[in-house]
Amino acid sequence: MSDLSRDLVARIREVIGDPKGVIPLHEPTFAGEEWALVKDCLDKGWVSSGGKYVDRLEAETADLCGASHAIAVVTGTAALHVALLLAGVEPGDEVLVQSLTFVATANAVNYARAIPHFVDADRLTLGLDPDALAAYLTLIADRDGERVINRRTGRRIAAVVPMHTFGHPVDVDGLARVAAEYEIPVVEDAAEALGSTFRGRPCGSFGRIGTLSFNGNKIVTTGGGGMILTEDEDLARFGKHLTTTAKLPHRWAFVHDRVGFNYRLPNLNAALGCAQLAQLPRFLAAKRALAARYQEAFHDVAGLTFFTEPEGACSNYWLNTILINEEHADERDALLEAANDAGLMCRPAWEPMHRLPMYANCPRAPLPVTEELARRIISVPSSASLGEA
Ligand SMILES: *Cc1c(COP(=O)(O)O)cnc(C)c1O
Repeated sequence: MSDLSRDLVARIREVIGDPKGVIPLHEPTFAGEEWALVKDCLDKGWVSSGGKYVDRLEAETADLCGASHAIAVVTGTAALHVALLLAGVEPGDEVLVQSLTFVATANAVNYARAIPHFVDADRLTLGLDPDALAAYLTLIADRDGERVINRRTGRRIAAVVPMHTFGHPVDVDGLARVAAEYEIPVVEDAAEALGSTFRGRPCGSFGRIGTLSFNGNKIVTTGGGGMILTEDEDLARFGKHLTTTAKLPHRWAFVHDRVGFNYRLPNLNAALGCAQLAQLPRFLAAKRALAARYQEAFHDVAGLTFFTEPEGACSNYWLNTILINEEHADERDALLEAANDAGLMCRPAWEPMHRLPMYANCPRAPLPVTEELARRIISVPSSASLGEA
């Protein structure tokens, strides 16, 4: 084992102690009313499309995220799919997305029959870099009335999707400036950033539409689920319609006025979510305490740097990240092997989207920082329970 591998394993152990078994990257905590609320659904027979918990989860999430409207759906991916449609993305359009993201972001663009157009990340946030985006748009974007056209492909650029990587907010102000200059709608992929804020404002509230994920590995889980957030009442009404098979309200008739989606979150999942959401303040405190311990443990390790939240941000530290210094980046796989051999579930960043076979031929900006970060990122065990120990 190399010195660097030994340091990585020793410092993680210093933070999390020596619990038994393999330490997961991120596991949920069920310490609230989960059993009671799920049992209530079963007792009343409201497990699916009826019941009060969907409305309650929507209202509580909207409140927490500073949005006027929230629509609960079956996955974060489904939330993104519908959010793109609500933003006006049409078949054949291009949508600007980070290459450094989970595959769902690019897949959702594809489900909308649009084309992901990859842009670079920022070393200070790990998310979309507004300055690089602005410089790139100067080169490739033409205005045609209200539309922005990629002059290299002739296609419309219909939206930009920033993603708050591992819960760390992107440079929201910078992005808002670029998006406003070109009048490109922002669809915010806040799947990882529930509870994170930027200059006091919650992630999920910055774009025309924001989306969350309640997958099992996220900070709050419904088993599987997602949420669409917006200020716009008309978009919210249309979003609810699209995600509930576009059925027209009627006492008994089944009439649908367009091709909708069966994306409604079941009541059973929403009940779990209500119990989880009530614990978010506790989870946030535990995760920030854990991050502070990682920061302390790694502050004097040569070759490894703990990634801290960007300036102006209060991050949920969904996943804690160690950056391997550039000169050791070729040791990444050996470090991952050593940590996983030691029972510590550590993971690299996602393979960047522009290198996946289905997206390799999509348009893209220069991606030097994405390439660099993909070599340098290691995510380390980050469950809230570790911060409470
Ligand atoms: C988790 C996640 C999603 C949505 O995932 P689902 O499993 O569909 O809920 C979308 N984007 C990012 C960046 C994510 O991490």
